[in-house]
Amino acid sequence: MVNTKILLDEAEIPTHWYNVIADMPNPPAPYLGPDGKPVTPEMMSAIFAPELIEQEMSTQRWIQIPQEVREILKLWRPSPLYRAHRLETVLNTPAKIYYKYEGVSPAGSHKPNSAVAQAYYNKIAGIKRLTTETGAGQWGSALSLAGNLFGLEVRVYMVKVSYEQKPFRRSMMQTWGAEVLPSPSNLTQAGQQILSHDPNCPGSLGIAISEAVEEAASRRDTNYTLGSVLNHVLLHQTVIGLETRKQLEKVGDYPDVIFAPCGGGSNVGGMMFPFLADKAAGKAIRLVAVEPTSCPTLTRGQFAYDYGDSVGLTPLILMYTLGHDFVPPGIHAGGLRYHGDSALVSQLYHEGILEAIAVPQLATFKAGVLFSKAEGIIPAPESNHAICAAIDEALRCKTSGEQKTILFTLSGHGHFDMLAYDKYLSGELVDQDYPEEILQAALQNLPKIHG
Ligand SMILES: *Cc1c(COP(=O)(O)O)cnc(C)c1O
Repeated sequence: MVNTKILLDEAEIPTHWYNVIADMPNPPAPYLGPDGKPVTPEMMSAIFAPELIEQEMSTQRWIQIPQEVREILKLWRPSPLYRAHRLETVLNTPAKIYYKYEGVSPAGSHKPNSAVAQAYYNKIAGIKRLTTETGAGQWGSALSLAGNLFGLEVRVYMVKVSYEQKPFRRSMMQTWGAEVLPSPSNLTQAGQQILSHDPNCPGSLGIAISEAVEEAASRRDTNYTLGSVLNHVLLHQTVIGLETRKQLEKVGDYPDVIFAPCGGGSNVGGMMFPFLADKAAGKAIRLVAVEPTSCPTLTRGQFAYDYGDSVGLTPLILMYTLGHDFVPPGIHAGGLRYHGDSALVSQLYHEGILEAIAVPQLATFKAGVLFSKAEGIIPAPESNHAICAAIDEALRCKTSGEQKTILFTLSGHGHFDMLAYDKYLSGELVDQDYPEEILQAALQNLPKIHG
C-alpha cells in the first residue's frame, strides 16, 4: 500500500509558474476601461507593480519564480498530498481519494502562495504600503504575513460583518503588523457613498475592493493587491497543481476527476491549470469547480463584462457574474461570497473545458464533519464544498463499482471558523436560497458596453 502522506523535497518546489494562457484554445478577452477600450499597462501601473502587470498580460508558458519568493515558500511548501484511506474506508467506496492540503501555510490557506509573490514584486518596485480587501480574513491574513516578511506596511479593508464575527482573524493580521479597518469605512469616497445610502451596510467584498483600490490610486507610495480573480494570482497558485502532479507520479496515479472550491477561482486555476494540457491532448480528466448555491456565479450567473468591485472603479472584466452590486447572503464560506469569477476560469467554463456545480451550505458542513472524523483535519467552510462534491462522487463509484481516482484541493483549515461549526452542530445553520427574481434584478445593472 502507498504512503498516506505523499511528500516532496524542498528542491522539488516548482522553479516556474505555469501560465495557462499559452495553452488556451482562445485568448482571454481584454479588460476594458470606462471608454470601452482595452486597458493599457500604463493605466494599471497606478495601482499594480510592473512585474505583476507583465504577468497579467503575459502569453509565455513558464514564468520563473524569483529565488527570494521560493525561499519564503519553503516555510510550508511543498505541501503534503494525502491519500484519504480512512475516508475511503468510511465511505466504503472502490474510488481512490487524494487531497492536496494547503492549510499548512502560516495563514492557514493557499492564499500566501500569491501574497508572497505580490509583496515581493511591490517591494522591488520601491512601494512602501499595500492596501487590500478581505472577506472571511484569509487573504488579509496572507497579505499581512507577506507584507511583514518584506517590510511593507499593510492596510486591510475587512468586510464589516466579518470584522465583527471573526475577531481572531483580525488579531492575526494585527499580530503580523497590519492595520485592519471595517468596510464600508468613512475614510474613502466609496465607503462614504455606500454609508450615505445605508449606514448599517454589512459590507461586501465588492465594496471593500472599491475602498482599497481608491486609496491605492490616490497615493504614489501605495499599491493595491487582490487575493483572487486576476490572471497573475492564478499563475502564482499553479504551484499547487504542479506539485500535485509530481506527487501523484511518485505513487503512479493520475486523477479521473478534480474538485476545488470556487470563490474567485484562484485555487481552481492553481490546481487544475497544470492538468489542462493533458486534457487538451485527449486525457479523460474532468475538472470541476464547486461553488455555494447561495452565490452561484458560474452555474447561474451571466457571461458578461462587469466590474470587479461594487462602485465601478476597476476595469471591466469578461467573466461570469451575478452583478457587481450583488450583496451575497451571510453564508459561512465567506471566501466564496464574490459576485464575479476569474476571467480565465470563466472562459474555460464557457468553452466547456471546466465544469461547475453548486452545493448547499448544510451539505457542505455535513461533509466537512464526516471528513474531520475520518481524516483528522478540520477544513475551512470553503474547502467543505470540494469535500462534499468528492464524497458524492465516491458514493456514486460505490453504486457503479467504478474505481475512479478522485482528487480535491483542501484549500485551508477551519480553525478560525469554529463559530460556523458550532452553529451547524447545534442545528442553527440553514440553507440560503438565491431567488431568481433577485438574481435577475442584480443582472439588470450590468454595465452597458459600447464597442
Ligand atoms: C479564499 C479561499 C477560497 C476561495 O478563493 P479562490 O480564489 O476561489 O480559491 C477557498 N478556500 C479557502 C480556504 C480560501 O481562503
